[in-house]
Amino acid sequence: MQLIELCTKDNLIIDAGALFTGIDQQVNKNVRVYIWDGKVQSIEKQAVNSRVEKPVGGMKNRRVIPANNMTVVPGLLDCHVHLALDGVSSPSPHRSVLRGRIRQKLASDLAYGIVAVRDGGDRDDIGLVCRDKVNNMELKGPVVMASGNAVRKKGEYGSFLGAGTTPKELAKTMKKLLMKNINQVKVLVSGIVSFKEYGRVGKIQFSLQELEQIVKIAGEHGLKVMAHASSDEAVQLCIGAGVHSIEHGYFISEDSLKEMADRGIAWIPTVIPVAVQNQQRVPSKIGKAAVIEHTYQRQLRMIRLAQHLGVLLGVGTDAGAAGVQHGVGYMQELHLYQEAGLTLEETLLAATRNSAQIMGMKDSLGIIAPGRPAYLLLMEGDIFANPGKQFDIKYLIRPQQEKIAEGSYQSA
Ligand SMILES: [Zn+2]
Repeated sequence: MQLIELCTKDNLIIDAGALFTGIDQQVNKNVRVYIWDGKVQSIEKQAVNSRVEKPVGGMKNRRVIPANNMTVVPGLLDCHVHLALDGVSSPSPHRSVLRGRIRQKLASDLAYGIVAVRDGGDRDDIGLVCRDKVNNMELKGPVVMASGNAVRKKGEYGSFLGAGTTPKELAKTMKKLLMKNINQVKVLVSGIVSFKEYGRVGKIQFSLQELEQIVKIAGEHGLKVMAHASSDEAVQLCIGAGVHSIEHGYFISEDSLKEMADRGIAWIPTVIPVAVQNQQRVPSKIGKAAVIEHTYQRQLRMIRLAQHLGVLLGVGTDAGAAGVQHGVGYMQELHLYQEAGLTLEETLLAATRNSAQIMGMKDSLGIIAPGRPAYLLLMEGDIFANPGKQFDIKYLIRPQQEKIAEGSYQSA
Protein backbone atom coordinates (compact mmCIF):
# COMPACT_ATOMS: atom_id res chain seq x y z
CA MET A 1 0.00 0.00 0.00
CA GLN A 2 1.30 3.42 -0.95
CA LEU A 3 0.25 6.43 1.11
CA ILE A 4 -0.12 9.59 -0.94
CA GLU A 5 -0.42 12.75 1.11
CA LEU A 6 -1.57 15.67 -0.98
CA CYS A 7 -0.03 19.11 -0.73
CA THR A 8 -2.24 22.06 -1.54
CA LYS A 9 -0.62 22.47 -4.96
CA ASP A 10 -0.83 18.81 -5.92
CA ASN A 11 -2.95 18.22 -8.94
CA LEU A 12 -4.09 14.65 -9.07
CA ILE A 13 -6.23 12.85 -11.58
CA ILE A 14 -7.50 9.34 -11.01
CA ASP A 15 -8.91 7.34 -13.87
CA ALA A 16 -11.05 4.91 -11.93
CA GLY A 17 -12.48 1.69 -13.31
CA ALA A 18 -15.11 1.75 -10.57
CA LEU A 19 -16.03 4.45 -8.05
CA PHE A 20 -18.13 3.98 -4.94
CA THR A 21 -18.76 7.47 -3.55
CA GLY A 22 -20.42 6.40 -0.30
CA ILE A 23 -23.35 8.70 -1.02
CA ASP A 24 -25.53 5.74 -1.97
CA GLN A 25 -25.10 2.17 -3.12
CA GLN A 26 -24.36 3.04 -6.70
CA VAL A 27 -21.09 2.07 -8.37
CA ASN A 28 -19.95 4.40 -11.15
CA LYS A 29 -17.90 2.83 -13.90
CA ASN A 30 -15.03 4.48 -15.77
CA VAL A 31 -14.92 7.89 -14.18
CA ARG A 32 -12.21 10.48 -13.78
CA VAL A 33 -11.74 12.06 -10.37
CA TYR A 34 -10.02 15.47 -10.30
CA ILE A 35 -8.29 16.44 -7.08
CA TRP A 36 -6.78 19.82 -6.32
CA ASP A 37 -5.91 21.63 -3.10
CA GLY A 38 -6.45 18.43 -1.11
CA LYS A 39 -10.07 18.30 -2.19
CA VAL A 40 -12.12 16.49 -4.77
CA GLN A 41 -12.82 19.04 -7.51
CA SER A 42 -15.05 17.09 -9.84
CA ILE A 43 -16.01 13.62 -10.95
CA GLU A 44 -16.58 13.14 -14.63
CA LYS A 45 -17.34 10.31 -16.98
CA GLN A 46 -14.20 9.18 -18.82
CA ALA A 47 -14.48 9.98 -22.50
CA VAL A 48 -13.09 7.47 -24.98
CA ASN A 49 -9.48 8.38 -25.75
CA SER A 50 -9.93 11.35 -23.48
CA ARG A 51 -7.06 13.63 -22.81
CA VAL A 52 -6.57 15.62 -19.69
CA GLU A 53 -7.43 19.17 -20.57
CA LYS A 54 -6.01 22.07 -18.63
CA PRO A 55 -6.75 21.09 -15.08
CA VAL A 56 -7.75 23.54 -12.40
CA GLY A 57 -4.65 25.04 -10.86
CA GLY A 58 -2.49 24.56 -13.95
CA MET A 59 -0.37 21.67 -15.17
CA LYS A 60 2.32 22.00 -12.54
CA ASN A 61 2.52 19.15 -10.01
CA ARG A 62 0.06 17.20 -12.12
CA ARG A 63 -0.04 13.49 -11.63
CA VAL A 64 -2.32 10.91 -13.21
CA ILE A 65 -3.02 7.58 -11.55
CA PRO A 66 -4.20 5.10 -14.15
CA ALA A 67 -6.64 3.09 -12.05
CA ASN A 68 -8.84 1.59 -14.75
CA ASN A 69 -8.41 -1.81 -13.19
CA MET A 70 -9.05 -0.50 -9.69
CA THR A 71 -11.97 0.43 -7.45
CA VAL A 72 -12.02 3.73 -5.59
CA VAL A 73 -13.88 4.00 -2.27
CA PRO A 74 -13.85 6.57 0.56
CA GLY A 75 -11.33 6.10 3.37
CA LEU A 76 -12.65 3.72 6.06
CA LEU A 77 -13.54 4.58 9.66
CA ASP A 78 -13.33 2.37 12.75
CA CYS A 79 -15.93 3.48 15.33
CA HIS A 80 -14.48 1.46 18.20
CA VAL A 81 -10.82 0.79 18.97
CA HIS A 82 -8.58 0.80 22.05
CA LEU A 83 -5.18 2.14 21.09
CA ALA A 84 -3.88 1.34 24.57
CA LEU A 85 -4.59 -2.37 24.13
CA ASP A 86 -2.68 -4.70 21.83
CA GLY A 87 -5.02 -7.63 21.34
CA VAL A 88 -2.73 -9.95 23.24
CA SER A 89 -1.93 -8.92 26.75
CA SER A 90 -3.23 -6.32 29.13
CA PRO A 91 -1.78 -2.79 28.88
CA SER A 92 1.97 -2.82 29.05
CA PRO A 93 3.28 -1.13 32.16
CA HIS A 94 6.34 0.15 30.35
CA ARG A 95 5.68 3.31 28.38
CA SER A 96 8.55 2.88 25.92
CA VAL A 97 7.24 -0.53 24.85
CA LEU A 98 3.78 0.92 24.53
CA ARG A 99 5.01 3.79 22.38
CA GLY A 100 6.52 1.37 19.86
CA ARG A 101 3.33 -0.64 19.74
CA ILE A 102 1.18 2.44 19.24
CA ARG A 103 3.27 3.53 16.28
CA GLN A 104 2.72 0.07 14.84
CA LYS A 105 -1.04 0.10 15.46
CA LEU A 106 -1.52 3.48 13.85
CA ALA A 107 0.59 2.42 10.85
CA SER A 108 -1.40 -0.77 10.53
CA ASP A 109 -4.69 1.18 10.54
CA LEU A 110 -3.40 3.26 7.62
CA ALA A 111 -2.16 0.16 5.82
CA TYR A 112 -5.72 -1.17 5.82
CA GLY A 113 -7.20 2.08 4.57
CA ILE A 114 -8.54 3.36 7.90
CA VAL A 115 -8.47 7.15 7.96
CA ALA A 116 -10.15 7.76 11.33
CA VAL A 117 -10.66 5.80 14.54
CA ARG A 118 -12.78 6.42 17.60
CA ASP A 119 -10.98 5.31 20.73
CA GLY A 120 -13.15 3.67 23.37
CA GLY A 121 -10.93 4.79 26.23
CA ASP A 122 -8.29 3.54 28.61
CA ARG A 123 -7.19 4.11 32.16
CA ASP A 124 -3.97 5.98 31.35
CA ASP A 125 -5.15 8.47 28.69
CA ILE A 126 -3.06 6.73 26.06
CA GLY A 127 -5.78 7.29 23.45
CA LEU A 128 -5.66 11.01 24.18
CA VAL A 129 -1.88 11.06 23.90
CA CYS A 130 -2.15 9.25 20.54
CA ARG A 131 -4.63 11.82 19.28
CA ASP A 132 -2.38 14.70 20.24
CA LYS A 133 0.72 13.04 18.79
CA VAL A 134 -1.06 12.48 15.49
CA ASN A 135 -2.39 16.03 15.54
CA ASN A 136 1.08 17.38 16.27
CA MET A 137 2.48 15.20 13.48
CA GLU A 138 4.77 13.34 15.85
CA LEU A 139 3.09 10.10 14.78
CA LYS A 140 1.63 9.13 11.43
CA GLY A 141 -1.81 7.68 11.77
CA PRO A 142 -5.50 8.06 11.17
CA VAL A 143 -7.44 10.89 12.79
CA VAL A 144 -8.04 9.81 16.40
CA MET A 145 -11.22 10.68 18.28
CA ALA A 146 -10.37 10.08 21.91
CA SER A 147 -12.58 9.38 24.93
CA GLY A 148 -9.94 9.56 27.64
CA ASN A 149 -11.09 7.47 30.60
CA ALA A 150 -14.31 5.54 30.16
CA VAL A 151 -16.95 6.53 32.71
CA ARG A 152 -17.63 3.48 34.85
CA LYS A 153 -18.87 2.64 38.29
CA LYS A 154 -16.26 1.98 40.92
CA GLY A 155 -16.05 -1.72 41.73
CA GLU A 156 -17.73 -2.86 38.50
CA TYR A 157 -16.29 -4.14 35.20
CA GLY A 158 -13.68 -2.17 33.30
CA SER A 159 -10.90 -1.10 35.67
CA PHE A 160 -8.49 -1.02 32.67
CA LEU A 161 -10.69 1.54 30.93
CA GLY A 162 -11.15 4.13 33.65
CA ALA A 163 -10.69 4.79 37.35
CA GLY A 164 -14.37 4.49 38.20
CA THR A 165 -16.79 6.78 39.93
CA THR A 166 -19.53 6.66 42.52
CA PRO A 167 -23.01 8.09 41.83
CA LYS A 168 -22.22 10.91 44.24
CA GLU A 169 -19.00 11.84 42.45
CA LEU A 170 -20.46 11.56 38.96
CA ALA A 171 -20.73 15.30 38.19
CA LYS A 172 -17.20 15.87 39.45
CA THR A 173 -15.85 12.93 37.42
CA MET A 174 -17.51 14.28 34.29
CA LYS A 175 -16.08 17.75 34.89
CA LYS A 176 -12.58 16.35 35.30
CA LEU A 177 -12.95 14.26 32.15
CA LEU A 178 -14.20 17.18 30.06
CA MET A 179 -11.21 19.26 31.11
CA LYS A 180 -9.04 16.79 29.20
CA ASN A 181 -10.54 17.95 25.92
CA ILE A 182 -12.03 14.61 24.93
CA ASN A 183 -13.86 14.10 21.62
CA GLN A 184 -16.74 12.01 22.95
CA VAL A 185 -17.81 10.39 26.20
CA LYS A 186 -17.49 6.63 26.59
CA VAL A 187 -19.63 5.08 29.30
CA LEU A 188 -19.78 1.50 30.52
CA VAL A 189 -23.43 0.69 31.11
CA SER A 190 -23.12 -3.07 31.51
CA GLY A 191 -20.38 -5.58 32.21
CA ILE A 192 -19.18 -7.98 29.53
CA VAL A 193 -20.93 -10.92 27.98
CA SER A 194 -20.30 -14.36 29.44
CA PHE A 195 -18.89 -17.06 27.17
CA LYS A 196 -19.74 -19.71 29.74
CA GLU A 197 -23.47 -19.14 30.16
CA TYR A 198 -25.52 -18.12 27.11
CA GLY A 199 -27.20 -14.73 27.51
CA ARG A 200 -25.57 -13.81 30.80
CA VAL A 201 -24.07 -10.32 30.93
CA GLY A 202 -22.21 -8.46 33.68
CA LYS A 203 -24.03 -6.09 35.99
CA ILE A 204 -25.69 -2.82 35.01
CA GLN A 205 -23.52 0.03 36.28
CA PHE A 206 -25.74 3.13 36.20
CA SER A 207 -29.36 4.04 36.85
CA LEU A 208 -31.46 5.79 34.21
CA GLN A 209 -31.09 9.09 36.09
CA GLU A 210 -27.31 8.75 36.29
CA LEU A 211 -27.07 7.90 32.62
CA GLU A 212 -29.30 10.84 31.72
CA GLN A 213 -27.01 13.08 33.72
CA ILE A 214 -23.99 11.81 31.77
CA VAL A 215 -25.74 12.41 28.43
CA LYS A 216 -26.85 15.88 29.52
CA ILE A 217 -23.41 17.02 30.68
CA ALA A 218 -21.80 15.64 27.50
CA GLY A 219 -24.43 17.42 25.40
CA GLU A 220 -23.73 20.73 27.12
CA HIS A 221 -20.18 20.38 25.79
CA GLY A 222 -21.30 19.36 22.32
CA LEU A 223 -20.18 15.77 22.80
CA LYS A 224 -21.83 12.51 21.88
CA VAL A 225 -22.02 9.49 24.17
CA MET A 226 -20.90 6.02 23.11
CA ALA A 227 -22.28 3.40 25.48
CA HIS A 228 -20.86 -0.05 26.10
CA ALA A 229 -24.06 -2.05 26.58
CA SER A 230 -24.67 -5.75 26.30
CA SER A 231 -27.94 -7.38 27.45
CA ASP A 232 -31.17 -5.91 26.21
CA GLU A 233 -31.82 -4.41 29.62
CA ALA A 234 -28.68 -2.27 29.31
CA VAL A 235 -29.58 -1.33 25.74
CA GLN A 236 -33.05 -0.23 26.86
CA LEU A 237 -31.53 1.94 29.56
CA CYS A 238 -29.27 3.56 26.97
CA ILE A 239 -32.16 4.24 24.61
CA GLY A 240 -34.13 5.80 27.47
CA ALA A 241 -31.23 8.05 28.42
CA GLY A 242 -30.67 9.15 24.81
CA VAL A 243 -27.10 7.96 24.19
CA HIS A 244 -25.87 8.31 20.61
CA SER A 245 -24.47 4.86 19.97
CA ILE A 246 -24.79 1.39 21.43
CA GLU A 247 -21.46 -0.43 21.45
CA HIS A 248 -21.45 -4.26 21.26
CA GLY A 249 -25.13 -4.77 22.10
CA TYR A 250 -24.86 -8.55 22.38
CA PHE A 251 -28.38 -9.85 23.09
CA ILE A 252 -30.05 -6.73 21.75
CA SER A 253 -33.76 -7.32 20.95
CA GLU A 254 -35.78 -6.61 17.84
CA ASP A 255 -37.86 -4.06 19.78
CA SER A 256 -34.72 -2.20 20.81
CA LEU A 257 -33.51 -2.13 17.22
CA LYS A 258 -36.85 -0.70 16.10
CA GLU A 259 -36.65 2.04 18.73
CA MET A 260 -33.08 2.80 17.73
CA ALA A 261 -34.12 3.13 14.09
CA ASP A 262 -36.91 5.53 15.12
CA ARG A 263 -34.64 7.65 17.29
CA GLY A 264 -31.55 7.58 15.11
CA ILE A 265 -29.43 5.80 17.73
CA ALA A 266 -26.50 4.04 16.09
CA TRP A 267 -25.31 0.49 16.61
CA ILE A 268 -21.70 -0.71 16.55
CA PRO A 269 -22.07 -4.50 16.89
CA THR A 270 -18.32 -5.40 17.12
CA VAL A 271 -18.65 -9.03 15.99
CA ILE A 272 -14.99 -9.81 15.50
CA PRO A 273 -14.10 -10.18 19.23
CA VAL A 274 -16.68 -12.99 19.45
CA ALA A 275 -15.84 -14.40 16.02
CA VAL A 276 -12.17 -14.88 16.93
CA GLN A 277 -13.15 -16.78 20.06
CA ASN A 278 -15.52 -18.85 17.95
CA GLN A 279 -12.81 -19.62 15.38
CA GLN A 280 -10.40 -20.85 18.01
CA ARG A 281 -12.84 -23.55 19.05
CA VAL A 282 -10.64 -24.86 21.78
CA PRO A 283 -12.12 -25.47 25.17
CA SER A 284 -10.56 -22.65 27.10
CA LYS A 285 -10.76 -20.75 30.31
CA ILE A 286 -12.81 -18.19 28.42
CA GLY A 287 -15.87 -20.30 27.79
CA LYS A 288 -17.79 -23.09 26.16
CA ALA A 289 -17.70 -23.51 22.39
CA ALA A 290 -21.49 -23.83 22.03
CA VAL A 291 -22.15 -20.65 24.03
CA ILE A 292 -19.67 -18.67 21.95
CA GLU A 293 -21.07 -20.11 18.70
CA HIS A 294 -24.66 -19.16 19.63
CA THR A 295 -23.68 -15.68 20.76
CA TYR A 296 -21.79 -15.16 17.51
CA GLN A 297 -24.59 -16.50 15.29
CA ARG A 298 -27.18 -14.40 17.12
CA GLN A 299 -25.14 -11.23 16.58
CA LEU A 300 -24.93 -11.93 12.83
CA ARG A 301 -28.73 -12.37 12.69
CA MET A 302 -29.29 -9.11 14.56
CA ILE A 303 -26.96 -7.22 12.20
CA ARG A 304 -29.03 -8.40 9.24
CA LEU A 305 -32.20 -7.37 11.09
CA ALA A 306 -30.75 -3.96 12.03
CA GLN A 307 -29.92 -3.32 8.37
CA HIS A 308 -33.43 -4.36 7.38
CA LEU A 309 -35.02 -2.10 10.02
CA GLY A 310 -32.95 0.90 8.96
CA VAL A 311 -30.81 1.24 12.08
CA LEU A 312 -27.80 3.52 11.62
CA LEU A 313 -25.20 0.77 11.50
CA GLY A 314 -21.53 1.64 11.86
CA VAL A 315 -18.39 -0.49 11.82
CA GLY A 316 -16.18 -0.91 14.88
CA THR A 317 -13.77 -3.66 15.81
CA ASP A 318 -12.94 -3.23 19.49
CA ALA A 319 -9.37 -3.58 18.19
CA GLY A 320 -7.07 -4.24 21.11
CA ALA A 321 -9.55 -6.64 22.72
CA ALA A 322 -8.38 -10.25 23.03
CA GLY A 323 -7.54 -11.62 19.59
CA VAL A 324 -8.50 -8.48 17.65
CA GLN A 325 -5.62 -6.80 15.82
CA HIS A 326 -5.65 -3.19 14.75
CA GLY A 327 -6.13 -2.83 11.00
CA VAL A 328 -6.53 -6.45 9.94
CA GLY A 329 -9.39 -6.88 12.43
CA TYR A 330 -11.30 -4.25 10.49
CA MET A 331 -11.11 -6.29 7.27
CA GLN A 332 -12.41 -9.29 9.22
CA GLU A 333 -15.30 -7.22 10.58
CA LEU A 334 -16.27 -6.14 7.04
CA HIS A 335 -16.21 -9.76 6.00
CA LEU A 336 -18.50 -10.68 8.90
CA TYR A 337 -21.07 -8.04 7.86
CA GLN A 338 -21.26 -9.81 4.53
CA GLU A 339 -21.51 -13.16 6.25
CA ALA A 340 -24.44 -11.66 8.18
CA GLY A 341 -26.15 -11.09 4.84
CA LEU A 342 -25.30 -7.50 3.96
CA THR A 343 -24.14 -6.78 0.44
CA LEU A 344 -20.66 -5.35 -0.07
CA GLU A 345 -22.29 -2.02 -0.95
CA GLU A 346 -24.29 -1.99 2.32
CA THR A 347 -21.19 -3.00 4.26
CA LEU A 348 -19.13 -0.19 2.73
CA LEU A 349 -21.84 2.38 3.43
CA ALA A 350 -21.71 1.34 7.09
CA ALA A 351 -17.90 1.58 7.03
CA THR A 352 -17.78 5.03 5.42
CA ARG A 353 -20.81 7.34 5.36
CA ASN A 354 -22.54 5.88 8.45
CA SER A 355 -19.39 5.65 10.54
CA ALA A 356 -18.43 9.24 9.65
CA GLN A 357 -21.87 10.37 10.82
CA ILE A 358 -21.56 8.37 14.04
CA MET A 359 -18.13 9.83 14.74
CA GLY A 360 -19.36 13.38 14.15
CA MET A 361 -17.27 13.81 10.99
CA LYS A 362 -19.88 13.62 8.30
CA ASP A 363 -18.80 16.92 6.74
CA SER A 364 -15.20 15.89 6.21
CA LEU A 365 -15.09 12.10 5.89
CA GLY A 366 -17.16 9.19 4.63
CA ILE A 367 -18.06 10.21 1.10
CA ILE A 368 -16.31 11.20 -2.12
CA ALA A 369 -17.89 14.33 -3.58
CA PRO A 370 -16.82 17.66 -5.08
CA GLY A 371 -15.66 20.08 -2.39
CA ARG A 372 -14.89 17.31 0.10
CA PRO A 373 -11.41 16.58 1.48
CA ALA A 374 -9.87 13.83 -0.64
CA TYR A 375 -9.71 10.68 1.49
CA LEU A 376 -9.63 7.91 -1.09
CA LEU A 377 -8.77 4.27 -1.14
CA LEU A 378 -7.72 2.53 -4.36
CA MET A 379 -8.09 -1.23 -4.49
CA GLU A 380 -7.04 -3.73 -7.14
CA GLY A 381 -9.78 -4.99 -9.46
CA ASP A 382 -13.53 -4.44 -9.44
CA ILE A 383 -14.28 -5.36 -5.84
CA PHE A 384 -18.00 -5.50 -6.55
CA ALA A 385 -17.46 -8.23 -9.12
CA ASN A 386 -15.84 -10.43 -6.42
CA PRO A 387 -17.54 -9.33 -3.20
CA GLY A 388 -16.12 -12.08 -0.97
CA LYS A 389 -12.52 -11.49 -1.98
CA GLN A 390 -9.99 -9.84 0.28
CA PHE A 391 -9.22 -6.24 -0.58
CA ASP A 392 -5.86 -5.59 -2.16
CA ILE A 393 -5.24 -1.95 -1.23
CA LYS A 394 -2.88 -0.18 -3.61
CA TYR A 395 -3.11 3.47 -2.53
CA LEU A 396 -4.46 5.50 0.34
CA ILE A 397 -4.80 9.15 -0.64
CA ARG A 398 -5.42 11.87 1.89
CA PRO A 399 -4.76 15.58 2.32
CA GLN A 400 -1.43 16.28 3.93
CA GLN A 401 -1.98 16.36 7.66
CA GLU A 402 -1.40 19.73 9.21
CA LYS A 403 -0.79 20.52 12.82
CA ILE A 404 -4.20 21.07 14.28
CA ALA A 405 -5.11 22.76 17.51
CA GLU A 406 -5.88 20.53 20.45
CA GLY A 407 -9.50 19.65 20.71
CA SER A 408 -10.18 20.10 17.00
CA TYR A 409 -12.37 17.51 15.35
CA GLN A 410 -14.92 17.99 18.10
CA SER A 411 -18.04 15.95 17.62
CA ALA A 412 -20.98 17.78 16.14
ZN1 LIG B 1 -14.30 -1.52 23.73
